[in-house]
Amino acid sequence: MAGIYIHIPFCKQACTYCNFYFSTSSYFKNNFITALAKEIAMQSHYLSEEEIKTVYFGGGTPSILETQELEYLLTELSKHFSFAENLEICLEANPDDLTPLKLKALKQLGINRLSIGIQSFKESDLLFMKRSHTAKEALQCIEQARIEGFDNLSIDLIYGIPEQSNEDWLGNLNRLEGLGINHLSCYALTVEDNTPLYHDIRKGKIKALDEDLAAEHFKILRNWSKSEHWEHYEISNLCKEGNYSRHNTAYWNDEKYLGLGPGAHSYNGKERQWNVPNLKYYIEALKENKLQFEKESLSEANQFNERIMTSIRTMWGIDKNLLKSKFPKYFPYFEKQIAFLDGDSIINTDRHLILSDEGKFYADGIAAKLFIED
Ligand code: SF4
Repeated sequence: MAGIYIHIPFCKQACTYCNFYFSTSSYFKNNFITALAKEIAMQSHYLSEEEIKTVYFGGGTPSILETQELEYLLTELSKHFSFAENLEICLEANPDDLTPLKLKALKQLGINRLSIGIQSFKESDLLFMKRSHTAKEALQCIEQARIEGFDNLSIDLIYGIPEQSNEDWLGNLNRLEGLGINHLSCYALTVEDNTPLYHDIRKGKIKALDEDLAAEHFKILRNWSKSEHWEHYEISNLCKEGNYSRHNTAYWNDEKYLGLGPGAHSYNGKERQWNVPNLKYYIEALKENKLQFEKESLSEANQFNERIMTSIRTMWGIDKNLLKSKFPKYFPYFEKQIAFLDGDSIINTDRHLILSDEGKFYADGIAAKLFIED
């Protein structure tokens, strides 16, 4: 079983914190769709005929596409790949695109999961982040999606926003009650290089982000998830009643995936490759039947480090038996390194190494202490 990710590189406007690959001009949209259809055909053997269990439209803003464009892409995919019976088709969407008409059409098309970029239910946060939607639209689109029969709904929220008090953050989480959402992704606001947020902080227009505020909000999230019975199954992901993101869980379980579109990454178990993140080059190359990507073979050390990084972030932690059987050469080093970790940050049993509540906020730093140098 494998997954397909399709990167749709268009957005209405640039959110202040975002460093994903996207363009705010849709001038090349038609050419992009043509190029994408060609890439689908050219990459049809990448997953060695494995059955596809998830198709994920990410971005950018996939909900910017017309229903006919999405239908065309799904038809092209179905010509070249074999879909599993219970295929999950997930579409990332922004609230301002999700009109009742659009939602109805998406449902008819077979999209069976929506991941909605809400980010906050508070107007001032949305203005600060330069989101393209209002708080009212955020609530309305969730309600409307439920009316249209979407019962597999995920939303994204951001915490650690300057001026976002603990009460504001908890208020965002409490807004979820009764909305019928079964999956939640929560990210700390970060400053990525060359984003508008980065420049505004450098110019002193905005004060630097406060890591203590983000840590405090993460603690609120942990407590809220326990009291409201959300499974906090990965550092940034929570769900109700086992509704884990099938697409992302496959990444964490080392399954193969094909990424299509500019900047998209692929993994076939041995190598990782990524398309050039440039829309013009992408279109020009495919016009000449060429694929523009870079590739790296994963060394054993790379694979070990990736296993550590992805599994330590989950509630299941690192399965020591599995790690030992897959990486016998590195296992003694791993066991030795555990002794250097802060005891309050981890739960170390015979079978698993799991992050404690205290350790979860510092997952990346803790994982780095267990890495092998290549
Ligand atoms: S809509 Fe999403 S991809 Fe586009 S700029 Fe905003 S955060 Fe980035």
